[in-house]
Amino acid sequence: MSFIEHSDPKVSFIQKDLYDSVISLGPHRTPRRNRFTRKSRTGRSRISFRVKKVIFERDGYRCQYCGKGFPRDQLTIDHVIPLGKHGIDELTNYVTACKSCNEMKGSMSLADFAHHIKIEITDLPVYGDPIIDNPNLPIQFRLLRKKIFDKTRMEKGRLQRSGEAQKRLERAFRYEFHKTDLGKKVLKDYPKLPGQVRVMLPQIQAIAKNEAEMRLLIELAKSAHTRN
Ligand SMILES: [Zn+2]
Repeated sequence: MSFIEHSDPKVSFIQKDLYDSVISLGPHRTPRRNRFTRKSRTGRSRISFRVKKVIFERDGYRCQYCGKGFPRDQLTIDHVIPLGKHGIDELTNYVTACKSCNEMKGSMSLADFAHHIKIEITDLPVYGDPIIDNPNLPIQFRLLRKKIFDKTRMEKGRLQRSGEAQKRLERAFRYEFHKTDLGKKVLKDYPKLPGQVRVMLPQIQAIAKNEAEMRLLIELAKSAHTRN
């Protein structure tokens, strides 16, 4: 079970992540000097109106912690992994939360809060990365991603949050992925797909329930990349 699935079985965490990556809004960053204020920790006043709307719509205007629906003005955006715990200030780490859950989460340790909303702490994504944190993907694929994540995003023991660091990660990951057995198999099965779509196939395969869904997700990924 993933972190989000408990309240909305139709939209799992990885589906949301894929949705995020195909709509390609790009990373949203908080100025460094505000990182440790309460506002930046909850992301409440720094996330643009447009990004908030996308996240609320993605989550169906439901708090993803208690599962209840709320009017828009009662909802906030929470960082699943707090910034202070190396969470990334990007769409994949944003989640819709009601005010009371958000406040409760802010006042508890992540482990206590996970226990409170009845999920296993081991289910929590650790990196805020849609590939490393997805237990449904092949383990080699996740380990490769983690290796490159550590190499491209960590510098002097600190997580680099810039869009440039994320681009470095994606480039290096694509390059290394195509050298693996899985990468070669995918190339053989889908020779005509662009490399940046082919690298998403393990994720797409983990989500798609049938051939039609698979084709649809591939088309979405293709159109997202050609729009850039
Ligand atoms: Zn709630």
